[in-house]
Amino acid sequence: MKFGGSSVADADKIRNVARRIAAARESGDDVVAVVSARGKTTDGLVQLANEISDRPDPRELDMLLSTGERISCALVAMALHDLGHQAVSFTGSQAGIFTDSAHTKARIVEIRADRIREALEGGNIALVAGFQGMSIDGKNVTTLGRGGSDTTAVALAASINADVCEIYTDVTGVFTADPRIVAGAVKLPRISHEEMLEMAAMGSKVLALRSVEFARNYDVPLHVRSSFSPDEGTWIIKETPDMEQAIVSGIAHKSDEAKITITGVHDQPGVAASIFTVLADALINVDTIIQNMGSDGRADLSFTLPLDELSRARDVLDTIKGSLEYTSITADDQIGKVTLVGAGMKSNPGIAAKMFRVLSDKDINILMIDTSTIRITVVINRRDIERAVRALHDAFDLEAEATRRGNV
Ligand code: ASP
Ligand code: MG
Repeated sequence: MKFGGSSVADADKIRNVARRIAAARESGDDVVAVVSARGKTTDGLVQLANEISDRPDPRELDMLLSTGERISCALVAMALHDLGHQAVSFTGSQAGIFTDSAHTKARIVEIRADRIREALEGGNIALVAGFQGMSIDGKNVTTLGRGGSDTTAVALAASINADVCEIYTDVTGVFTADPRIVAGAVKLPRISHEEMLEMAAMGSKVLALRSVEFARNYDVPLHVRSSFSPDEGTWIIKETPDMEQAIVSGIAHKSDEAKITITGVHDQPGVAASIFTVLADALINVDTIIQNMGSDGRADLSFTLPLDELSRARDVLDTIKGSLEYTSITADDQIGKVTLVGAGMKSNPGIAAKMFRVLSDKDINILMIDTSTIRITVVINRRDIERAVRALHDAFDLEAEATRRGNV
């Protein structure tokens, strides 16, 4: 069971979480519960570091950020004691979560959950501080990147072979689209790991992307549900041959994207490699890439990236202007992406055509297009995003479709 920050924001909510955990334990299950930092604690800690230093040292930042989750799990353990349960809290490193040394965005490389297993065997409920681990090399405290408690929970669930990883949050599940934008957005009863991976990568914020990767790689069933209601949420499960596949399951969007176009690059081998190597070395997350047909030995190259990495990317590209001899660089900081996700797309032609038709009927111009077997993404002007999401939700009838699938 994983509880997000809003689920443990105050004393009453912590007692509510303890009651949910106690109920699961009383029904006969062994429970490991991972908790996030309370409310906006992590934001507050980041701000604190920035008040002290312009460039806080990453190791020390992790030491600081890891405290939020420790507070929560100790408090939940106390609340469980008051309900008459045995409960023990653990830091990430005590729980055996080993990571690489990339401070503030460490990746889990191994889990040695012996202490967790022992705690369970001793009849305890195990509480684990999310979002953190210990580096194998330096034995330093690390954190897993914002939203990383989801990853802690799924990775632990995989490691101890849990029946299910329940993600308790302040929404009731995964929706067909962002309900703040689409009034008719509805909760999906179930969605495959692959579909959820595309949704998370393309802007859905319900689950951290890494956690969904873990769930898919280790086949962990996830159940995203509300901390404040007993209702079933959304099951995220392995796709099976008999699973009914919606053509379009959901719509994700991202508003904080930017686009860079490099014009007049030499149309010859090695040029794209040089450009994307310097960007990769600067840890800039490049996404959709398009290269135009060259003419006169020159070509244009465009790609998207997160808006907050735009100025860094421009600086990096400036450093290779001399060697690459491109003509110019232009940037567009007014773009976003809208994505349709659906496993049934694989076997149904015409989805892209319909998507583009719907957008054109709304006079929305498409700047770039990017696809996978189960996803179609368009890059459009930021101001058109909400209109596009609503129009597509309507045209593909996602409300009726999800409701129907919930009933079978
Ligand atoms: N507390 C961390 C954050 O705010 C991790 C998490 O909540 O999952 O990003
Ligand atoms: Mg979260």
